[in-house]
Amino acid sequence: MSGVTMNKVIKRYGETQVIHGIDLEIEDGEFCVFVGPSGCGKSTLLRMVAGLEETTEGQMHIGTRNVTKMDPAERGVAMVFQTYALYPHMTVAENMGFGLKMNGHPRAEIDAKVGEASRILKLDDYLKRKPAALSGGQRQRVAIGRAIVRGPEVFLFDEPLSNLDAELRVEMRVEIARLHREIGATMIYVTHDQVEAMTLADKIVVLKSGYIAQVGAPMDLYRDPDNKFVAGFIGSPAMNFVAGEIGSDRIAVPGLGVDVPAPTSGTTGQKVEVGLRPEHIELVAGDTHVVELTEALGGVSYAYLASKASGERVVVEERGDERVREGQEVGITFEPNRIYAFDATSEQRVR
Ligand code: ADP
Repeated sequence: MSGVTMNKVIKRYGETQVIHGIDLEIEDGEFCVFVGPSGCGKSTLLRMVAGLEETTEGQMHIGTRNVTKMDPAERGVAMVFQTYALYPHMTVAENMGFGLKMNGHPRAEIDAKVGEASRILKLDDYLKRKPAALSGGQRQRVAIGRAIVRGPEVFLFDEPLSNLDAELRVEMRVEIARLHREIGATMIYVTHDQVEAMTLADKIVVLKSGYIAQVGAPMDLYRDPDNKFVAGFIGSPAMNFVAGEIGSDRIAVPGLGVDVPAPTSGTTGQKVEVGLRPEHIELVAGDTHVVELTEALGGVSYAYLASKASGERVVVEERGDERVREGQEVGITFEPNRIYAFDATSEQRVR
């Protein structure tokens, strides 16, 4: 097994640069998730690790091997795609063993490896079926089984759960986490879904427009975002942002109805966006905000407030049994240390 190292990795399609000099260290055995909105470059970066896209500049290492110019087959990686890419005329067992068969491995070895993969993935009862007779989740298991059978140093997953319905996605997410625990291989996983990223990753790489916005453990990104992009992307519902201006030792934030302590590195007069997560706000008696809408999800509900001073929207998560009504006037309260400040222009954190 091996980690993956990228040094100043760049991808250009003709004149258009889409990956802008990525430096990244993925440890041996780590579950690393590339996450970001559509078009941020996460699939391209994954395909560059696989060798399916050429690396225009920079170096890519798997373990100690420089794989930058290697063919996909030489890199010791196996990729699982969103579309499964199974052979329809082959059984589950044949699909899983096909790569080894093509490479001339003996029958007994193939059977043993397919047997082991099907045990891990609970596919034993389906080995003789064709893909058409499987559910979406089972097909994706077969695609993962095909990767396991090849015994790669690094597993690459490209949005593997996107074609599954919500319930199955949760089930397969748990399966993939279990698979990683059981086989302990390095895994790189691409998704646009921050919940998948938070629940699966040891390390999350948040990408924005071909740059790394931040790298870190899931809870570190949640607690300590470096910029407004990461703050808004990680966490659901998203962090609230309201405009503020730093004074001598307080930030005036009309949209929250109160001043908050200014960060030490801020300067007087600096325009900021103040961030506050819905789960860190409590509703209290008051008249600074009006409830525009409520959404009850069962265990939690969300109150969408409008600030009477600024018109800005603030979302509040409620967990108790008492719920506010639309049209009601309320106040809000929160622990001052739950506040984040981001420069209004650069969107970088002001600490
Ligand atoms: P993501 O996986 O994050 O949705 P992609 O890696 O697919 O994003 O794409 C990143 C950027 O590269 C996008 O702007 C996309 O339009 C561009 N891109 C991807 N493939 C090509 C290509 N073959 N030619 C030109 N541009 C491409």
